[in-house]
Amino acid sequence: MQIISPDKVIRGKDAWKKSLPEIVNISKFPMLLGRSSKTRSLRSIISKDLSQLNLKVYNCELEFDCCEDDLKRIYNLSVEQKCDSIIAAGGGKVLDAGKLLAEYLSVPCITVPLSASTCAGWTALGNIYTTEGKFVKDIKLKSCPKILICDHSFIKSAPKNTLSSGIADSLAKWYESSITSSSNQDGIIQQAIQISRVLRDQLFIEGEDAYNNPSEDNLAWSNIVEANTLTAGLIGGIGGEKCRTAAAHAIHNAITQIKSNKKPLHGEIVGVGILIQLRLEESKNNNKLANQSINQLVKFMKNLNLPTTISELGINVFENDNLQKIASFTFRKESEIHFLPFEFSKEDIIQVISKFESQKISI
Ligand SMILES: [Zn+2]
Repeated sequence: MQIISPDKVIRGKDAWKKSLPEIVNISKFPMLLGRSSKTRSLRSIISKDLSQLNLKVYNCELEFDCCEDDLKRIYNLSVEQKCDSIIAAGGGKVLDAGKLLAEYLSVPCITVPLSASTCAGWTALGNIYTTEGKFVKDIKLKSCPKILICDHSFIKSAPKNTLSSGIADSLAKWYESSITSSSNQDGIIQQAIQISRVLRDQLFIEGEDAYNNPSEDNLAWSNIVEANTLTAGLIGGIGGEKCRTAAAHAIHNAITQIKSNKKPLHGEIVGVGILIQLRLEESKNNNKLANQSINQLVKFMKNLNLPTTISELGINVFENDNLQKIASFTFRKESEIHFLPFEFSKEDIIQVISKFESQKISI
């Protein structure tokens, strides 16, 4: 069985208002889950609107990224409060936590992305991190959220780097799925890969305009917001596991194991992962277009103020055995990097990253 999409997707300027009757239909005691103090005012609007419809809202905040400790604590609270739905309002990690909690409690999940940084509002997946933000594992869920509410007025107030981070994460869909699944004979998977190519083109064409002019009246901005929060999720839904991740995400997961003072966002790390994946394809899979793709990507990423090296993520790979640690985690048995359809070793990863970090890419 394939889990493709949320039951309902409500999108646009007043998506939140339009979704209220749908929420009233399925819940009386929702838990409203969030995290950042920056989203508190938006969450209080959500809470107030629900209370006015006589729903008894229980407000709850995560203390950390989506981690086991927080999930256990909030699970117990929601049982005590007899919550009959989870409304997760925030960035990717809040949305992941909401989906996991809803599944543990067997109640519907409603996702309300408050930035365009990931497609977590769509997917039937939840990533678990430690309290320090190190990636632990991803968990496949039984279903996508019941309702996804992509409200443009909410998302427009998010910091600019969440949009660029989301763009880098969405770009990975093409670079990861086209290499892992290009020889797959399944027509639906081929179609998912083609959607990821169209998505990539749209990000290249409209990404900078969206980043520089975040406004609901700017069609480029609305298109990119929905590309990141909706289309990227749809590709994973139709294409399945191998259309979601490969080396770029494996490298992301490894980089989160190393302490960085900069606290980069998910997509910011994934973007660097795409560049390293392309270097690996160049050296081990004879990808003759890799260099051109890297030049195109680096120029685009710099215009969006995205990091283009691990050192720009706040990590020196040549210190504290970091290079070894990143390569070992990237190459571990359960890593998605093994979806790549060519031979390479841990030593190759070390060499590629070492060369990548020593080079000054000048555009
Ligand atoms: Zn991602």
